[in-house]
Amino acid sequence: MENRELVQMMENRETPVYFYDMALLADTLDKAIASAGQYGYRLHYAMKANHNGKILQTMSSRGVGADCVSGNEVKAALENGFLPGDIVFAGVGKTDREIKFALETGIFAFNCESLQEVEIINQMAEEMGVRAGIFLRLNPDIDAYTHDKITTGRAENKFGLPMGQMQSFLHRRKDFNNIEWLGLHFHIGSQITDMVVFENLCQRINKIQDLLEDSGILLPHLNVGGGLGIDYENLETGRITDFESYFETFHRNLKLRAGQQLHFEPGRSLVAQSGILLSRVLFTKAGLEKQFVIIDASMTDLLRPALYGAVHKIENLSRQEGNSTVYEVAGPVCESSDVFAKNVVLPQTGRGDILAIYSTGAYGQVMSSTYNMRNPAETVYSDEIKVAVKKAG
Ligand SMILES: *Cc1c(COP(=O)(O)O)cnc(C)c1O
Repeated sequence: MENRELVQMMENRETPVYFYDMALLADTLDKAIASAGQYGYRLHYAMKANHNGKILQTMSSRGVGADCVSGNEVKAALENGFLPGDIVFAGVGKTDREIKFALETGIFAFNCESLQEVEIINQMAEEMGVRAGIFLRLNPDIDAYTHDKITTGRAENKFGLPMGQMQSFLHRRKDFNNIEWLGLHFHIGSQITDMVVFENLCQRINKIQDLLEDSGILLPHLNVGGGLGIDYENLETGRITDFESYFETFHRNLKLRAGQQLHFEPGRSLVAQSGILLSRVLFTKAGLEKQFVIIDASMTDLLRPALYGAVHKIENLSRQEGNSTVYEVAGPVCESSDVFAKNVVLPQTGRGDILAIYSTGAYGQVMSSTYNMRNPAETVYSDEIKVAVKKAG
């Protein structure tokens, strides 16, 4: 949609609004599915990135599976068209209730993050008279060179099993009568844009596979998680992430054994660019040296800047021209970290202007809170609105 269409769409609406470009979402998905499909790879959408029903349905209707991190996500996946056999369930702290629910449902696999979890799942499966498919999540000790708060694959990290503990699992696996060991799982971090990181992961997995082969073990599946990054700066060229290079990196570097199925769990790369947070300017004010723009969106709508120091591109949709000014764009919440951008250049901006905060489809709306008793942002989907824009000329 063009800027003026968005502005027109916002005319009689309360802000902030989470706007989703459903055509872009479909394009992105189709590209990802086609790229992965060339090599026969399976995708499971990491639904923690955005669990809006319409987005989930867009995924499930295309045959993508779901990667869940809570029992409620498993439930939502089922309600939105994902088949139990296409659902994987990760997380370091699954509750008994969540495990039981997933076993009743008959999901494809649990991604297990400790030996104790394997024991408990085995025990519960035995009590229920079922078998549980599991992947062992290993911690490959790889630095994803990404933000500290989103790196997950270093040696001492709460996620996964340290490499050394795979041996303990191998010794004990014959005791786990109600467990079907389907494969290994890895997820080393998020917003990774350097393909070398994934090459390193592949090399590491190749070594582990050699070790397993020495013990006569051939696993039917491997799951390399998600983490593919997006371009938060260059929105035109980076509208759709380079899925081709990503999947090709695995194709060239990972030695799959005969019949082995490779799985991926992309989250951000599928949904981030489809979301725009739209907000109105409440006030402008001069500080001692800075110019502030106070908008009606806040960290309760988009936590990423406050939590990760994330930088989202911001534009003033209401004004294309006017003197460029350097602004600090901040929200109304009573926290110093409620700031979206410290040095953003916008045309001279005024009260009532509509600002767009881009690339907010992933880890945006789903991290909302009601802090300061704030209302949640409205949700608008591009395919549910009609705007009659008069063609100029
Ligand atoms: C968060 C997460 C993902 C998705 O990560 P993205 O960076 O959004 O692709 C995939 N797998 C697991 C286990 C995760 O925790």
